[in-house]
Amino acid sequence: MEIKTAVFAGSFVSQAQFPKDHLPEIALVGRSNVGKSSLINCLANRKALAKTSSRPGKTRTLNFYKVNNKFYFVDLPGYGFARVSKQQKEKWGKMIEDYLQKRNNLVGVIMIVDIRHLPSEDDILMYEWLKYYGIKTAVVATKADKISRGKQLKNFEEIKKALGFHRDDYGAIVSSTSRQGKNELLKIIEKLLET
Ligand code: GDP
Repeated sequence: MEIKTAVFAGSFVSQAQFPKDHLPEIALVGRSNVGKSSLINCLANRKALAKTSSRPGKTRTLNFYKVNNKFYFVDLPGYGFARVSKQQKEKWGKMIEDYLQKRNNLVGVIMIVDIRHLPSEDDILMYEWLKYYGIKTAVVATKADKISRGKQLKNFEEIKKALGFHRDDYGAIVSSTSRQGKNELLKIIEKLLET
């Protein structure tokens, strides 16, 4: 698959506002600063479709991007940012959870982690949660350009082990900077859309 068009469709906070055209949706989740916006831009061949390095702490929304007029990428608020109040965290958590739990159009989740680090407690909770709700997931380890190829494989195995990776899920090593793994991830997206 090639992404030919990607259009920002809106920032929303509740179900009532979400698009009503019943296209399948693929959500992207990950810790703040993990490289989620960069990955969306890389996949869509765009420089600033998703804003990168968005200032943490500002209003968090679910951002919808319509791709090839066929499906949506749904950019969920980054989690695990330390410098926000517990109340804020709970609000974001509820928004993410509501979406993942109730959205019928959701066909899969791309969970992004940093290839250099073991998953955080939040990452592990997120993955367990996705599995509990039976949501097909692609675990995508990004920023691969920052380490050697040999280390990439080794780290990814350790990340998967720490998460309790399910064999029937997808996994990919990518870099938005070098574009390593981009085609592999596009193939995974295609598979998620088929299911
Ligand atoms: P987000 O908060 O998850 O959306 O993260 P961003 O996409 O804004 O990325 C956070 C920082 O990591 C930025 O400074 C990016 O330039 C950098 N970054 C993102 N992806 C990559 C990557 O694949 N390789 C490298 N070297 N840096 C990256």
